[in-house]
Parts: sequence; structure tokens; C-alpha cells
Amino acid sequence: MKALIYNGPRNVTVTDVPDPRIEHPKDALVRITTTNICGSDLHMYEGRTDMEAGRVLGHEPLGEVVEVGSAVERVRVGDLVCMPFNVACGFCKNCERGLTNYCVIANPDPDIAGGAYGFADMGPWQGAQAEFLRVPWADFNCLRLPPDAREKENDYVMVADIFPTGYHSTVMAGVRPGDSVVVYGGGPVGQMAAYSAILRSAATVMVVDRHPDRLTLAEKIGAIPIDDSKASPVEQVLDQTGGEGADCGCECVGYQAHDPEGHEHIDLTLNNLVKSVRIAGRMGVVGDFVPQDPGAADDLSRKGEAVFDYGLFWSKGQQMGTGQCPVKRYNRKLRDLIHAGKAQPSFVVSHQLPLNEAPAAYKHFDAREPGWTKVVLKP
Ligand SMILES: [Zn+2]
Ligand SMILES: [Zn+2]
Repeated sequence: MKALIYNGPRNVTVTDVPDPRIEHPKDALVRITTTNICGSDLHMYEGRTDMEAGRVLGHEPLGEVVEVGSAVERVRVGDLVCMPFNVACGFCKNCERGLTNYCVIANPDPDIAGGAYGFADMGPWQGAQAEFLRVPWADFNCLRLPPDAREKENDYVMVADIFPTGYHSTVMAGVRPGDSVVVYGGGPVGQMAAYSAILRSAATVMVVDRHPDRLTLAEKIGAIPIDDSKASPVEQVLDQTGGEGADCGCECVGYQAHDPEGHEHIDLTLNNLVKSVRIAGRMGVVGDFVPQDPGAADDLSRKGEAVFDYGLFWSKGQQMGTGQCPVKRYNRKLRDLIHAGKAQPSFVVSHQLPLNEAPAAYKHFDAREPGWTKVVLKP
């Protein structure tokens, strides 16, 4: 089959690789019909992780089941399914508590919990930017899609990662009807966080970014765009909230946060959140942070450490939730919102391309070229 292979920093190619096959009775094989390039793929693309050369990238899969192992009970050949980016066993002590983001079985590394397709440090699973994908523990990991799935693939595929991830940040931030919410980052996940805050009836949603296309998109869904290249985002949020700060904050940028001059600061968005969220406000941090970052510019960041404004955070009595999203906690309900016509997350899609154009798409997306918001691939 054809698959998008990571060869090294900023070097990916579409290459012929052996087809995946059923390796365990609980596996399913899925022919991928829609899959995305994610902002977190760029950390690997840029060589800012210890991703091994030769692996298939991609962790946002949707497709048709073409074969199932002998122990698969519920998923059938012909089903259209969407898989959480988290690979999870369903029976370990973390999965049992719904923490499929920290499955201890899907990741053989004793120091790290949580599995994902085509992801550095998250287990041996091959990626989904390919014609076929092996899905382990298929009954647990496949979310079956309703009959309208064919026409709405670009909506349903967002349920693999960015829609639940954005939603999760609003849950960790405790967004309730009438709240004011600031979202740092207007990339795909930030857009989904803003969209989720609106779905959860927030009164005011602000999106901080500096790319005009992203700010325009945020405005289109009903958020207030905050351009941090024009003035301090903290001041702008305080202005919008009568000087109090937002009730809730979402971090959707991560460790590669840049200032408007292009300098990277691991702590930039975290400290801005502490300043722009009100006393006793809550925050949900879903942007990626890593324990080691060999590509970082300074010693502290290389160890994944940040100069966090803990004194202000503590004295304001704020709370912060962190980590990757347990997609299975939300994917069924978000699927049903799409099915009911009440959510249309495909508004983030800017490009729909065949798999063989993926290497060029990575280049454009990595350069944050205007208009390259979210790339959907059709293998
Ligand atoms: Zn993703
Ligand atoms: Zn597990």
C-alpha cells in the first residue's frame, strides 16, 4: 500500500510499504477513506521529537472495515468507522476509569502511558496517513458511523482528534452557559475549542492568534478575534471582560508557542493564560508539551521545563487541567451532534487532497502559509 513515511526532519514521502494485516484476533483492518494532517504531526515533521525514520505518520483515521480478526464481535466488514487517535486496550486500570489517553497496555514503554497511531513515544502503532490501518482492540477503538457518514466524512473525521480535543479543553476549563472564555491559539484545535465553548453556550469567546485567516475563521463562528501582534493579548482580554479576566481559559498552542517576532517561548501561552483568566478561573491545556525537547533553544526548554508564573497562578486560586484528550469520553456524543446537524466541525477544512500530495501539504502547513488551516487527505 501507499503511506506517508517520516524519513527525517522536514522530509516525508509517499512510499510503498507492506500492507498491514491482522496480527491479533481482536484486530480490524480499515481502508482509510479520510484522514487528516494534524498540528501535532508538525512536531514530528520538524524533528522536534524522537520519531524513528521509516514510520508511517497520521493519527486521525476514518474508513471502511475490510477485515476483522476472529475475536472481533461487534465491528463488521463494511462498517464505516472513525478511530480515536488514542490507541487503548479498554481493560487496563486507566482505561477502566475512562482514561484511554493513558492506557498502560497500548504503550510498551513503562515510563509513558498512552498509545497513538503514528506518533513519537506513543507505542508501536503505524500511522493513518496510508491506504490501510491496523486497528487493535477493534471493538473498543472503532466508533461506528451512521448512514449519512459518506456525505459527512469531513465532519466525522474531526471526531478522531481535534473536535474532542478542543471540547476537552473547555471541559477542563469548566465552561458553563454564560461564561467568558479565552482560547490561546487559532489553529484547528483552537478553532474547535472556541466552537465547543459556543456549543456549550458561553456568552463570550475570544480567540488569540495573529494569522489573519485564523482570526477571520474564529470570527465567522462567532468568536471575538484577538490579534496578539497588535497589542498585548492579556490587555485585550481584560478590556473585553471589564478588567476581571475571562472565566475560563483554553491553551491550544503548546511548547512551540511563538511571540509575534517569531521567538519560541515554552511558557508564553501558559503565563498569558494565568494573567488573562480571572481569580479562581479554570484552564484546560491541550496544546502539546513534552518532557524532553532536544530541538529547544535553551537548557530549560530542552528539559521540557518552563518558567511558569506559579506565584500569580496560586494567589489567584486558579485551576489547570492538562494532558491529551481521552477521545472515547466524547466521540460518541460529538458524532451524534454531527448526525443531528447541530455541529459541523468541517468548517476548519481548507484543503482536501489525495495522499500523494501530502508531502507538499506538510510543507505549506508547516510554514503556516495563509489559508492552510486544516488538510484532509483522501487516500
Ligand atoms: Zn491530531
Ligand atoms: Zn488500557
